[in-house]
Amino acid sequence: MVWFCPAVESDEHCRGLFHCREVITDAMSNKAIFLCRYGATGTAWRGTRVFRAATGAMKRLTLTFDNGPDPTVTPGVLDTLAQHGIKSTFFVCGNHAGRAPQRELLTRAKVEGHRIGNHTFTHSIEFGRSTDPTLPEREIGETQEILGDLADQDRLFRPYGGGGVLGNSLLNPAAVEFLCRGGYTCVLWNSVPRDWELVTEWPERALTDIRRQDWTVVVLHDIGTGAMDQLPRFLDAARAANVEIVADFPDACVPIFRGEKREGLSDYVATTGPARD
Ligand SMILES: [Zn+2]
Repeated sequence: MVWFCPAVESDEHCRGLFHCREVITDAMSNKAIFLCRYGATGTAWRGTRVFRAATGAMKRLTLTFDNGPDPTVTPGVLDTLAQHGIKSTFFVCGNHAGRAPQRELLTRAKVEGHRIGNHTFTHSIEFGRSTDPTLPEREIGETQEILGDLADQDRLFRPYGGGGVLGNSLLNPAAVEFLCRGGYTCVLWNSVPRDWELVTEWPERALTDIRRQDWTVVVLHDIGTGAMDQLPRFLDAARAANVEIVADFPDACVPIFRGEKREGLSDYVATTGPARD
């Protein structure tokens, strides 16, 4: 049973949600005494503002960092993730993943247990807006070759999507064919807090997404906007909200898994030729 504790309505501890390890109800006083998993204790009136009954399932959060690595930003991101004991995925572009400083950072990320995914070669063309049959080989295949041993074993691929918009311009039939034939796993997202423009406010946006869904896959960018200065604050808030931070992905964000098409894939594939706006 999850109780909303009146003592923390100020949105401090656990954002007001106590996932109780133990609840002792007192029929006489109609109160419940709880002990939450962070060790806090308190008293709540039974039946007042019960948030959600009985499931006790923690919300999940998967962190992804796109368009990096950046020698001035990514080391700090890796330090923060290590301090918090969190594993994540870095989706990188082929046109700079092969350069020395970026390669070194990707090696460090891999050694520290993070996953490395393919985020196209040029990060400039949505497949659904192209009819060029050679585009998948150039954008996906060449990047995978550059990643080599650094690439995750599930051959993670995230398409380029302008502004983070999900839709049928992300892929086209040729790209789907290429991904399936190559055993790739296509990873999308369900939270884009626009960290590239909301450089200090993005954590609140992401936390709103976390509250409205069970498993959030957030797109962040380890590039030089200053947004990653907020990462420690965001992770503290997510932890305080009792969110479990994981390195895998919900099925709904994975329309192709190890080369196998999943239900819902067609939402992301242009039917014929370039997608219409
Ligand atoms: Zn991107």
